[in-house]
Amino acid sequence: MSYTLEPVHFSGCIQPHGILLVLSYPELTILQVSANVWAYLGKESQMLLGQSLHTLLDIQSVASIQQNLEEGDSLSSLKLRTLSGDRTFDGTVHRIKQGMILELEPAAQTEESFFLVHAWVKGAIAKLRKVSSLREFLQLAAQDIRKLTDFDRVMVYQFDPQGAGAVIAEAKRDDLSPYLGLHYPATDIPQPVRELYKRGLLRFIPNLTAPAVELLPSVNPITQQPLDLSPVTLRGVDPCCVTYHQNMGVASILVISLVHNQQLWGLIACHHQTPKLIAYPVREACELLGQFVSVELANKGDREELDYIVKLRSLQSEFVGSISQVDDLKEALVNPALRLLDLVSAQGAAVCLENKITLVGVTPTLEQVRTLIQWADTQPGNEALFHTNLLPKLYPEAETFQNQASGLLLLRISQVRRYYILWFRPEVVQTVNWAGNPHAAMRMEADGSVTLSPRTSFIQWQETVRATSLPWKACELENALDLRSAIVGIVLNKADELARMNQELKRSNQELDSFAYAASHDLKEPLRGIHNFSTLLLKGYESVLDDVGKARLQTLIRLTRRMESLIDALLKFSRLGQAELYLVPTDINQLVNRVLEDLLVSRQEVQPEICIPRSLPTVNCDPILVLEVFTNLLSNAFKYNDKPFQSIEIGYLDTEGSIPDSSYITFYIKDNGIGIRERHLEIIFRLFKRLHEQNLYGGGTGAGLTIAKKIIERHGGQIWVESTVGLGSIFYFSLKS
Ligand code: ADP
Repeated sequence: MSYTLEPVHFSGCIQPHGILLVLSYPELTILQVSANVWAYLGKESQMLLGQSLHTLLDIQSVASIQQNLEEGDSLSSLKLRTLSGDRTFDGTVHRIKQGMILELEPAAQTEESFFLVHAWVKGAIAKLRKVSSLREFLQLAAQDIRKLTDFDRVMVYQFDPQGAGAVIAEAKRDDLSPYLGLHYPATDIPQPVRELYKRGLLRFIPNLTAPAVELLPSVNPITQQPLDLSPVTLRGVDPCCVTYHQNMGVASILVISLVHNQQLWGLIACHHQTPKLIAYPVREACELLGQFVSVELANKGDREELDYIVKLRSLQSEFVGSISQVDDLKEALVNPALRLLDLVSAQGAAVCLENKITLVGVTPTLEQVRTLIQWADTQPGNEALFHTNLLPKLYPEAETFQNQASGLLLLRISQVRRYYILWFRPEVVQTVNWAGNPHAAMRMEADGSVTLSPRTSFIQWQETVRATSLPWKACELENALDLRSAIVGIVLNKADELARMNQELKRSNQELDSFAYAASHDLKEPLRGIHNFSTLLLKGYESVLDDVGKARLQTLIRLTRRMESLIDALLKFSRLGQAELYLVPTDINQLVNRVLEDLLVSRQEVQPEICIPRSLPTVNCDPILVLEVFTNLLSNAFKYNDKPFQSIEIGYLDTEGSIPDSSYITFYIKDNGIGIRERHLEIIFRLFKRLHEQNLYGGGTGAGLTIAKKIIERHGGQIWVESTVGLGSIFYFSLKS
């Protein structure tokens, strides 16, 4: 059995539980009648055609129809009486282009039923108002409608954006198997039928197999066209719908449309296994309740959405609060892992900071994530955010990991620094249960037209909607974007803090320098006093003092000398922090020659071999201070060498890879001396730090390298050393060219 999509509402037939008249307007002459008028009015159809409505209904009934038409209120129902007064009907009037349609159904027997139904609607609405969750609300609506109508089964379907439906609430006879949770493919309700549902709020078919009733004549005599029955509640049933429901064991249906934002949001579908006539007022009550549910959908749905948004927001602020406290951003993002995932309801995430990627939850592999980021960066769109719930369709490589990532939300925190957060959602195929194979419902005919074949099986069937994840909601995307601003803010704050700390450090260093300067200056005075008095004592009391006394005084004099040289070193060091630099282009060849001359002259022992492989460059520096650096380093190279053959090399490296950058020239002084243990390589630059006893290797204060370091750093360069014990050392330092 099949039917084409075209004639759903042009079948020209109605159901037999009422009659239909087509009239001209404003004359109200009967143009067409349904073939079953005899059964309801006791008149032959031929007798009615061409007659005025006044010959059929009493004067009041005709008047109320006219009033209804003038007011354009085509949906309201009317109580109508025949001219003889022996029959009453519930009537519905529709204004059409060239006249009007009048539908008549025998009226309910008692007035009482109206009040009962009215009370039911009031009660149901009062109950429904109290429920806040959308699911509970729809469940209660299904139960109430079942209570009123006594249908075997009442279901609420919700449609997804593609038009597929899911049963999200159900009230049913205990002995029937549940349909709750089943999904229906979009093709179960073809688009033209959906349109009809959207326009008419209620569809009632008391007996799906009742023989259809034709209109006489079949073509409207004015328009010469078949009648468009789309607004008509008595509209005939198409054969596909009959078969479809027969397959489900259903003989009678009542369907209430749920329309939200002018879209068909879902349906309340009532099924009965045997034919079932529902009184007109009861149907009206159902329709009313359907309208109430439609209106409330916005409230309840919005509230659920709002609850979710509030939950996401609070997760977000908690998250941001905790990451702003810590120094290690990556750790803070991924610990605990669930928190990062909950932020956008994802199952997996990857945090990528520069080249380091950390995975949490269900994710593709590291390599897959790496290439995915490269691909995403080539995609057009928002520079901060890329998202899709159909990743494998856009990026075929993702087919291999669609179980982990059919949905991707990629957040670019900083493009300069390549900071990304990626969230993943798996494909949803596991969660979909179609109530039958949807692909069996549509068939392409040889002539290219689409034919619907009702499915013959309602066995639960797993549809493979491959490579699609749940879509990302607007509030989730917003949450991700807000996280980005928070992280950017935190990182910027940290940079500010660092700059502030640097300034503070500079200030306290300056204070320390001026303190050291003042202290060492003040110390020199009493020290000189001690030295002078000790010398006087030794000279003036030489005869009185014994040898021990004399030796002690000599030690005292030696110590004051040493102390003086230490204080001098400290003075020099602290002055360095305060003095201005006088930068001038300085030829380092000349400078080194001066240093070597001085050093070699004062040296009587072994003369080392000095090698300068290539002419040294000119740099922009304070020549007096840089002379001090070369003096310190070269005198150390002379001093700390116990080899019979001593060699010293003075040179510079090529600028490539220079520290801190290539605008600096790195000089080196290499010796074949005693070398320095690795653990001492840093501490030798500390003030007064010597590695040997005072009298070894020509003595010293342990301040030379500290002063050299300070000079280089004041020039913006760096100093460091490489060394092998027993083989020698290379001191490097960089100066801006
Ligand atoms: P001083 O030479 O006055 O002791 P420095 O600050 O110049 O002070 O050097 C600190 C220490 O570093 C020295 O005591 C020495 O142990 C070690 N040192 C410096 N230069 C060299 C070198 N070229 N070879 C081996 N050790 C060195």
